Amino acid sequence: LPVTPVGARTAATHCPYCALQCGMSLTAEPGRTVDVTPRQFPTNQGGLCQKGWTSAAVLDAPDRLTTPLLRGGDGELRPASWDDALDVVAGSVTRIQQVHGPDAVAVFGGGGLTNEKAYALGKFARTVLRTANIDYNGRFCMASAAAGANRAFGVDRGLPFPLTDLAGADAVLLLGSNLAETMPPSVQHLAGVRSRGGLVVVDPRRSATAALTGEPDDLPVTGGAGPVGDQGVHLQPVPGTDLVVLLALLHVVVTEGLLDGEYVAARTTGFDDVRRAVAAWWPERAETVCGVPAGRLRHVARVLAAASPARGGAGAYVLTGRGVEQSTQGTATVTAAINLALALGLPGRPGSGYGAITGQGNGQGGREHGQKADQLPGYRKIDDPAARAHVAAVWGVDPASIPGPGRPAVELLRSLGARGAAGTYAEDGRPRALLVHGSNLVVSAPDASRVEANLRALDLLVVCDVVPSETALLADVVLPVTQWAEEEGTMTSLEGRVIRRRQVTEPPGEARSELWVLAELARRLGSTVVFPTEPAAVFDELARASAGGAADYSGLSHARLDADEASGGPGLFWPVPAAGASLSPHPGTPRLFLDRFPTPDGRARMVAVDHVGPSDDVRADAPVYLVTGRVLQHYQSGAQTRRVPELDRSVAAPFVELHPVLGVRLGIADGERVRLTSRRGHVEASARWTDRIRPDTVFMPFHWGSAGSVNRVTTDATDPVSGMPEFKVCAVDVRSVKRA
Ligand code: SF4
Repeated sequence: LPVTPVGARTAATHCPYCALQCGMSLTAEPGRTVDVTPRQFPTNQGGLCQKGWTSAAVLDAPDRLTTPLLRGGDGELRPASWDDALDVVAGSVTRIQQVHGPDAVAVFGGGGLTNEKAYALGKFARTVLRTANIDYNGRFCMASAAAGANRAFGVDRGLPFPLTDLAGADAVLLLGSNLAETMPPSVQHLAGVRSRGGLVVVDPRRSATAALTGEPDDLPVTGGAGPVGDQGVHLQPVPGTDLVVLLALLHVVVTEGLLDGEYVAARTTGFDDVRRAVAAWWPERAETVCGVPAGRLRHVARVLAAASPARGGAGAYVLTGRGVEQSTQGTATVTAAINLALALGLPGRPGSGYGAITGQGNGQGGREHGQKADQLPGYRKIDDPAARAHVAAVWGVDPASIPGPGRPAVELLRSLGARGAAGTYAEDGRPRALLVHGSNLVVSAPDASRVEANLRALDLLVVCDVVPSETALLADVVLPVTQWAEEEGTMTSLEGRVIRRRQVTEPPGEARSELWVLAELARRLGSTVVFPTEPAAVFDELARASAGGAADYSGLSHARLDADEASGGPGLFWPVPAAGASLSPHPGTPRLFLDRFPTPDGRARMVAVDHVGPSDDVRADAPVYLVTGRVLQHYQSGAQTRRVPELDRSVAAPFVELHPVLGVRLGIADGERVRLTSRRGHVEASARWTDRIRPDTVFMPFHWGSAGSVNRVTTDATDPVSGMPEFKVCAVDVRSVKRA
């Protein structure tokens, strides 16, 4: 597909993949592939990873979707006109809702959608479909961090400070994030803390990030701090016990008098309960559960305390990632991390803080504008009457017509199906139709075989995507949509920085923006609600809807973002309220919590939590822990990166990492084909011996579908607070396929 440039051939934009949103320039010339050049931007400082350098290849992927597809009576997907495809969707939706009720049609969004698309999708679900059932794949990604931060701070902005602030810290505690592989340019911001020996990484694997500590590749040591690396410390807990590590660290801070008592008294509530909760987690006891030697726990607590401003240090950060958040204890673990940071007096102090490393490209903006089951634009709660009234006024609807909270993603996927069943949604609670935007659910959702079976049992599955993903291939209707370099819009980085995405090429074939698709469907479904299709106009409406909310964009517009960038500005961080009577544009808010937390009393809430353990622990018939994650070359479900020849050639198939000690014990040689079996199902891949993982644990990346999908094995048990699934630990039997 030769690209067709529009207007200016070169545009400053950002990478289509992760939340680092690296700055890049794109150049398009007729008949040639788009050229990618890195550019200076605060998060990447001129760097790109392999995914960014090769990102243009997805624009002209050989199997790029260029026309709508309709499944015929013979079961085959065939090209169709937009009119026919949209008529089928509108007709089926109408029929299903007439028979089963409005909630029988569900919507599933994505953390890669632009802010404008995420906003329009939430508005479409609530005003046109009038369904409560909308959620998105950020539930697999940021839900625990969001729940923990909202509870503690009254607001959730992944990093409430610019990423570049990390450079000056004396210590960074990084829990469950392999950013050296998932977002490599970010590692440069850790150079300072590494040079001061203050990087602490918590991960059951000696990941590329854990290796940055400079620790030798030994098994966990016993006694004392052990062989600490010249740039930091790597703690290798038993999977599912990160919370115990945090409880023990806070125990040491409390019992050794290392906390910032003045800060705790002035800026927090709940400390006494937390102190009591950690009293029983002395390091020797914690070691028996998490496997991290007590001496190392004490050492790390002292390193963090020494780095805190209260003790004269340059500053310290506590950061969490999916490794500790994708757990049935995810919110509790985030809460424990926040408690630790608050006890040390870090949040809201320049040069210190707590933050969560957002993963998906618009994982931050994706959870602010209304595609989440329990939220309205502006990061407002959907059950808040004032929020409903404000948003209803912007949408031009009756507040009472906006449905209440829907089901979180995993619960929603579990409830799907019931093809041909006669009952109504009110009777059986099962949606009959699902509209999917930007999610490859049969690869990325937990217990993927059950998800696939439920999708197959729907009366209607509609998928909007850019390529025929594994999920699109199951659909009754596939709608080809624009991506990245083919559209205008905005994204919000992992730091809450609102940035512009710019178009350099025309969409191929008949691909259209979801903004147009939603407007057309709204019209066909008889809605009188107005759906603008120009991204700048959608953004203006989004900004009005967000006014006064936690994530307030009301002082922003595409024009202001463009002008800020043209004048050398690095983007604006929300909240950015409208100027109002002052007439002076709000400068944005790079750092939150400097004076107070946005809670009713202005203080952060410390909440006591305790360790329960994973939902699916090892046992005789499944004696090995499985953890899942990503590799450098691939992004999320791999639907995009598996279509980039350089990346696909580099890592073409899934693999299972296991320690040689485990390999010998199980009689599995390096390179041998192995089968992992859990209560949900099994998956096969090649064994890869490495001494960079615990001997009781195997690791498998999740970027592949079909028989190579590790999510056929993972559990769909979820965190009771956030709805986050437990991707990061389940019990498996591991054996050679020869003996399976
Ligand atoms: Fe940057 Fe992430 Fe893109 Fe890599 S994938 S270039 S780290 S935005």
